[in-house]
Amino acid sequence: MEAGHCCPITMTHAAVATLLHEPVLARSVLPKLLARSYDPRFAPWQKKQAITVGMGMTERQGGTDVRANTTVATAINGTGPGKAYAITGHKWFLSAPMSDAFLVLAQAKGGLSCFFLPRFSPDGSVNRIKLERLKDKLGNRSNGSAEVSFDRAVGYLISEEGRGVQTIIDMVTLTRLDRAVSSAGLMRQALARAIHHAQHRSVFQKKLIDQPLMLQVLADMALDVEAATALAFKLAASFDGRDDPDATAYRRLMTPVTKYWVCKTPRRSSMRRWSALAATPMWRRAASRCSIARFRSTPSGRDRATSCASICSGRSSVRRKPWSGCSPESRRQAAASSA
Ligand SMILES: Cc1cc2nc3c(=O)[nH]c(=O)nc-3n(C[C@H](O)[C@H](O)[C@H](O)COP(=O)(O)OP(=O)(O)OC[C@H]3O[C@@H](n4cnc5c(N)ncnc54)[C@H](O)[C@@H]3O)c2cc1C
Repeated sequence: MEAGHCCPITMTHAAVATLLHEPVLARSVLPKLLARSYDPRFAPWQKKQAITVGMGMTERQGGTDVRANTTVATAINGTGPGKAYAITGHKWFLSAPMSDAFLVLAQAKGGLSCFFLPRFSPDGSVNRIKLERLKDKLGNRSNGSAEVSFDRAVGYLISEEGRGVQTIIDMVTLTRLDRAVSSAGLMRQALARAIHHAQHRSVFQKKLIDQPLMLQVLADMALDVEAATALAFKLAASFDGRDDPDATAYRRLMTPVTKYWVCKTPRRSSMRRWSALAATPMWRRAASRCSIARFRSTPSGRDRATSCASICSGRSSVRRKPWSGCSPESRRQAAASSA
């Protein structure tokens, strides 16, 4: 299955967490956002059965460092949560630009703030969002990403002015979870293809899968897929236990770690899958930023050192190769059961 639709679906569902900061808006937007259908019409979100929502955080001069954003938001008729602001500036990377609305960061008087920016203005005219061009990306080509500019586009403040990062981070966290789960899925798909190929391709009078070295390679891949899947679903389970303090601590610590590890692990797969996988480490913050996010989630230096040590020891056990010492038959069975 082509994975291009995953990004808009991920962003749409992740937006729920941020929209909940503005309950009045959430009450009318959420039913359309959670609908299980797709309404392709280019119309104001209020008139649609189902909508999708994108995000506009990064800017040309800032990238990861969103505090360097220069897009400005000027209050139109009073300041505060839910109020309309005129937004002027640009976004360097806005994926799924056909979305019905975007959650964007812009500088208001009180600092960097989060806004709900629909495709249509309140008077029914098209909002002043200009698609400058589509990105010519290495992978993930079926999912458009655009450079856009805003010229007094109308957006609505979510939460308080100055709390933009704290507000949009709930969306970012959920997209990181999805990136981990979807990368584990793409890895599994690539492994199934590799095993299928090895089962049918003959070299030196044997099927590839019967060549001991190839079996070692496939078993290694199977181990990575199992580890990535287990880690991603363990993280997903921690999101289900929202009120449990252990689950909360695990979620805070392990979301960036899991996103980093799972998105960085896949290396051996077919080209299209590889190009989709290549994009996931950069999406929702690149690798180093995920490491920094993890460090920020632990309070003191001593705690950081302890948790870092336990993560490192866990990671090294994942990389161990328990296959040495196994018979070729048991390795083959293990690889085949992962397909
Ligand atoms: C396919 C795709 C789709 C995207 N879609 C969207 C979207 O819809 N909306 C959106 O807002 N953005 C989107 N982005 C942008 C993405 O979020 C950014 O690429 C990402 O935040 C990194 O920013 P940057 O590329 O400008 O890298 P930079 O900020 O220039 O960082 C460059 C490198 O430096 C590292 N780095 C940064 N800070 C530190 C530090 N303190 N210490 C050590 N290393 C550091 C980073 O990890 C990175 O590897 C998309 C990107 C891609 C590839």
